[in-house]
Amino acid sequence: MADFLLGNDLIALAAVHAGAHSAYSYPGTPASEILGAFRRFAPDRFAQWSVNEKVALELSTAEAISGRSVLCAMKQVGLNVAADPLFSVAYTGVAGALVLVSADDPGPHSSQTEQDSRLYALSARIPVFDPANPRDAWALTLRAFALSAREKIPVLLRPVMRVCHSRQDFDVPAAAAPAPVPAAFVRDPERWAATPRFRSVLHERLLAKLSAIAADAWRDDGFAPKHDLAVVASGYPYAVLRDVLAAHPLPVDLVKVDMPFPLSGEFAARHLAGYRRLLVAEETFPVIEDQLRDRGKVSGKHDGAMPARGELTFDILSERLHAFAGKPAPKAARAELPAPPPPAKPRLCAGCGHRPAFYAIRKSAPDGIFPGDIGCYTLGVNLGAVDSCICMGASITFAEAMKRANPDRPVIATIGDSTFFHTGLPGLLNARLSGAPVVLCILDNGTTAMTGFQPVPHMAGAGITIEAAVRGLGIDFVRAADPYDVQGAVALLKEALAHAEEASHPAVVIFRRGCVARERPAPRTAPVRVTGACRNCRICYERFECPALSEDPALGRAVVDRRLCIDCGVCVDICPFGAIAAGEDAP
Ligand code: SF4
Ligand code: SF4
Repeated sequence: MADFLLGNDLIALAAVHAGAHSAYSYPGTPASEILGAFRRFAPDRFAQWSVNEKVALELSTAEAISGRSVLCAMKQVGLNVAADPLFSVAYTGVAGALVLVSADDPGPHSSQTEQDSRLYALSARIPVFDPANPRDAWALTLRAFALSAREKIPVLLRPVMRVCHSRQDFDVPAAAAPAPVPAAFVRDPERWAATPRFRSVLHERLLAKLSAIAADAWRDDGFAPKHDLAVVASGYPYAVLRDVLAAHPLPVDLVKVDMPFPLSGEFAARHLAGYRRLLVAEETFPVIEDQLRDRGKVSGKHDGAMPARGELTFDILSERLHAFAGKPAPKAARAELPAPPPPAKPRLCAGCGHRPAFYAIRKSAPDGIFPGDIGCYTLGVNLGAVDSCICMGASITFAEAMKRANPDRPVIATIGDSTFFHTGLPGLLNARLSGAPVVLCILDNGTTAMTGFQPVPHMAGAGITIEAAVRGLGIDFVRAADPYDVQGAVALLKEALAHAEEASHPAVVIFRRGCVARERPAPRTAPVRVTGACRNCRICYERFECPALSEDPALGRAVVDRRLCIDCGVCVDICPFGAIAAGEDAP
């Protein structure tokens, strides 16, 4: 019977069927489900949430140069963190197999950028596969492992969000039991520890491997042109173009590129030479387009025939393909549908401990500068307590330099517990060494919440604590606070700011409250309600923006939605008019 599986499930399952011995990952949408699926499909094999993507790729590489097959998964901005080992392992290669999944987010839907991981493959000079849908992800993951094992080279798989998070029916074949692979590291310092002189030899070998791979990829696959126009597509746009051509038959051939790099001269000569015009459809950068040499007949992103950014949807590709074929575009598929409602503003959950923490931060330093970080707490921007958000770990580095540039203003940075261990520690060390008088707030909810509650180092039962890690960097002001105690938190933050200025080094406040989306806490107060004292000042539902509070226009005041409220009681302290009270007998 067919299963209905996510693209991420099928990547993990294919890795298991390909004999992957281990899997490493750091959570990040849209790649977060891959490691969990690997564990589910192969509970007897090794799977690890590593502390960051660089660590994950280095661990994967070490196993792969010991002869094992390894899957390493991350989101596209995670590949920025892992880029350092990636470029090096492209040269050294592996002894077993190494498939690196970097899940892209054209749009973007849940990322800082819509960067194209295929450019990393091009730049590091490793092969990359670009699946069009979940079943294609299964097939190309198997090919990636086979290619990596055969050529002893790391191979990139680049599914986009709509491949990772789509489901497709799939008949799971019986797993071929992989042959056990004994640990077999063979000393070869000229390869694994190459000096710059040998690096040029390794680079030469890498180029030779790529030529062989490119030549092999397009050998006699039975392709026969039917028209004198072709659209060349890789990844998700290929799947969409198939639907477009099924709905609107046009005299255009559709040519699928599984491996956008390396593209071979064979491909251009045998498959594309006979066409009068070519249109290239790819997300998000012109990776294939830039490799096609006969530029005079190629249209794509460079001449505006394709959008330079964003997802290539059905309507966009239909319009662009009709223009390419010289046909009038049909009415957009969405034209008949009612306009979608405006997207809801993302907000922290009702009762989330991050909200009062941000409220206290803002209260403690009204003229402060507030560098933020990556995670659901980026939504502190709604509360006026996040002024910047660049990349993982940048809150504390920004805080140090913001203070240098703005010495008269208080600087309070925020970072989550997972992000603190991911890349926050080096920045805090730097701030300590440079004597930066700033406050770092670590928002400790005991999990990696935004990506699905993956584990964090200090909850792993290994005796690791955030306090000890901070003190180990020579920081003496490390205090924990309950964010629900807003007045106490404001007082503690003021004390931390004064201490940082006096001691000329950072102070750290840890706001500790479990994630309410993972485990609804016991009510802290009796049920809260808004009383007739409300003056509709909007503070609780607009500035504090608890989703359980809103304005009732008929009453002309705030009301509590009992379905959302978790009775954390914080709003009782927030209302400046004492109009929110706890208890059945509230006036
Ligand atoms: S309950 Fe308080 S904070 Fe909320 S609108 Fe009324 S007066 Fe303002
Ligand atoms: S008690 Fe107040 S702040 Fe807490 S969830 Fe309910 S309405 Fe929101």
